[in-house]
Order: sequence, then structure tokens, then C-alpha cells
Amino acid sequence: SLAAIAAREEAVHSFVTVVPEEAVLARAVEVQRLIDEGALTGPLAGVPVAIKDNMCTRGLLTTCSSRILGNFVPPYTAEAVLNLEKAGAVIVGKANMDEFAMGSTTETSWFGVTRNPWNTEHVPGGSSGGSCAAVAAEECSYALGSDTGGSIRQPSSFCGVTGIKPTYGTVSRYGLIAYGSSLDQIGPIAKDVTDCAAILEAIASHDAKDSTSVKREDYDFTAALVDDVKGMKIGIPRDYFGKGLDGEVKDAILRAAAVLEEKGAVLEEFDLSLVEYAIPAYYVIASAEASSNLARFDGVKYAYRSEEFEGLHQMYKKTRSEGFGEEVKRRIMLGSFVLSSGYYDAYYLKALRTKALIKQAFDKAFARYDLILGPAAPTTAPRLGESLSDPIKMYLGDIYTISVNLAGLPGISVPCGTDSKGLPIGMQLIGDCFQEKKLFRAAYAYE
Ligand code: GLN
Repeated sequence: SLAAIAAREEAVHSFVTVVPEEAVLARAVEVQRLIDEGALTGPLAGVPVAIKDNMCTRGLLTTCSSRILGNFVPPYTAEAVLNLEKAGAVIVGKANMDEFAMGSTTETSWFGVTRNPWNTEHVPGGSSGGSCAAVAAEECSYALGSDTGGSIRQPSSFCGVTGIKPTYGTVSRYGLIAYGSSLDQIGPIAKDVTDCAAILEAIASHDAKDSTSVKREDYDFTAALVDDVKGMKIGIPRDYFGKGLDGEVKDAILRAAAVLEEKGAVLEEFDLSLVEYAIPAYYVIASAEASSNLARFDGVKYAYRSEEFEGLHQMYKKTRSEGFGEEVKRRIMLGSFVLSSGYYDAYYLKALRTKALIKQAFDKAFARYDLILGPAAPTTAPRLGESLSDPIKMYLGDIYTISVNLAGLPGISVPCGTDSKGLPIGMQLIGDCFQEKKLFRAAYAYE
């Protein structure tokens, strides 16, 4: 891992912070001792991991790839990361991301862009682009990402790795710096389905420190890794294969579906409906929550404060003007607008109603199907710089992932080939709430 970081980090730039070699080796030695004593027996003991830089790590810089948290060293560790540490993980670095997880390309980071290891002229996707690039470049064995509207699944598909967003409430959000709290979920990014299942098994837990945490009975996700999809009913939404979907991506997804069919799954096309409303509903809700969550970064309690100012108001204004980047400011303004009196009903409440309808559409689908199959993203990774100039186009790229967050469902992206430029394509499988095991079973059988 250390050798790969030394060799590839300059070209790829997966990390905001690389843990110094002495510290990594000291931790590795400590874990080895625990393994020798029989105190650590699980599959993750001694395995190097990258953590997305929006998860707090005690004593280790945690920036959210923002200038405003540029010198923030948290006094505590996120619950999901603690769970990994208990399993013997060795953290090698904090992975780059879009600032505050807002974006789809990892280009909005204050600390510079991450490049796609498959072709460094292209983006790795985002917002967990650093996590996915680090795994694809073998700078670590696996990584943690977070997914508010696709930020695990989309970069996984762009980087040819496997990533799962669990059912909302499965992994504690304690210590995850909030973007859209009702949508945010931490999940594993790894080389294959088996690793993802083992990692989710380690990080999923009921946590009283997160009021939305759920207590589950089925944390033994690796038990679902059986190569058998006979009789499994898989729905393919027609709405996911229309305008905007790249032809090569479409062909790869349909070939992947055919593999599952050959193995005995029963495939059927259906109309999911409401798909086109997911993007506006998501951007209203996520921005509204972000505008509230990011109010705490005011130059008083955290990290960055502007150097020169006159009085309190100017201090707030200059700190936030200088500390946040363009995209984050755009969302804070949009969010404040849709929550303001007079517009609340027209935008925010309407978006919440749309969210409820989207959930109903999925409920209807899952009454008939075990899983839904489609693309993770409409295209392969765009070239660097292409998305920055056109935020609306970037938002439209979230079409297949965001409704999954609005409905709280689990979704996995599994590599299913490359396009003619040699860039990876990801198939997405979506399950009903708490049906991760079905996802793992089908993804494992496909792989
Ligand atoms: N691209 C989406 C956004 O910009 C999703 C990001 C995420 O899942 N964190 O909001």
C-alpha cells in the first residue's frame, strides 16, 4: 500500500492526507501483535484502508475537502471508522472528495482534483472520487465512502470498483460531517462483492448516538455470498433506458442482465414512473438540509476564520465567503431560498411530497420484484473540466442514483465491462429496504 501510494499518488491524487509511514507501520505492528495473541481474528485485521475526508478521525486532519475545515483535527472518531479500527483496520489516508460531498467529479475539492487511475485525463466521479481512485489504483485494499445521492455508486462505476450504499440507518452517521442528513449513508468501496459484504458486516451497527440508526437482526452479510439466483425476480425499469443513456453503457448493462438471466433469474421490464422528478426533488431537499447543516461553519466554532474583519457580522461574512467554494455556496443559497417563508410550501414541501411518491413507486415495484437492475450512471467518466462549467448537466448525471437515497433503499454498483475508450461501466442493483442480502447474492452471482 505504501509503495503504491509513493508510486501513484502524484498522478492520481486520491488523498488529502496520507498517514506518515512510521504511524502506519506502528499501527500495523500493533495489529499484528493482536492477531498473534488471538485477539483479532476477522478478515479486516491488518488490511489498509482509506477513509473519505468527511468522516471524523481523532487526531487526524478531517477537511471535507473544504478550506473552511482546512485545519480541523477532530477530537473524536466516527462510529463507522471506530468499528473498522476494532476489526483491526490500518488507516493509510483520508481520501479526497468534492467539497462537503457536493458534486459528481471530485473537482470541487479545495485541495485539487483527483484523477481517474484508468485514464488520468478523466475524472474519477464523485463525491467519493478519492476513495474509489485509491482502491482502483491499489493504494489501499478498500475504502469508506458516503452516499447522499450516488456518491459511492457513481464513482465506483467510473473507477471499475464495487461500492454499496446500505439502507438508510444501517451504518451510524455519528462523526460523518452532515450534508443532507436524511439522505447521507456511509458504505464500503472495494475490489469485489465479497470484500464489500465483509466490510459492511464490520461497520454496520446500531448506535444510540445516531437517532436515525436502526437495529437489525441480519448483520451477517457474508452469509448471502452464494452463487445462486435461480427464481430471483429482477425488474428492469424502461424509464432507465431512454434518452440520455450512452449506447455503450446501455449495451453493457443489458449484457450483464443477460448473465443473470442465464443463471436462472427472471427478468421483466416495467415502468417505474416519476423518475424525472427525482432530480428536482433531490436538489431541493439536499440543498435545504445542507444550508441548515453548514450554518455551523461560521468562524467561531470551527477551523478557518478570515484574517481581517470589522465586527461580528463581517467576520461571519468574510469567513464563509472565503471558506466555501462556488458549488457549496450555490447549494447554501438554493437551500436557504427553498426554506424561506413564502417559498417553503411551493418548493420544500412539494419536494417532500414528491419524495413520498417516489417511495410509493418503489414499494409497488418491490411487491413484484426482488431487485431492480439498471445503470449506475448514464455515461462513463467525463474528461476533467467538462462538468464544472455546467452544473445542471452534472446534476442530470445523478438520474439513476438519487431516487434510491430519497427512498432510503440499498444500492450496489458492480463493474460490468468497459467502453471503447477503455473506461469502466457499472451496473446498479437496487433492493428494498433491509434487503442488502439479496443485493449481495445477485451481485456475487453476476461477478
Ligand atoms: N452528485 C450528488 C450531489 O452533488 C450526490 C452527491 C453525494 O451523494 N454526496 O449532491
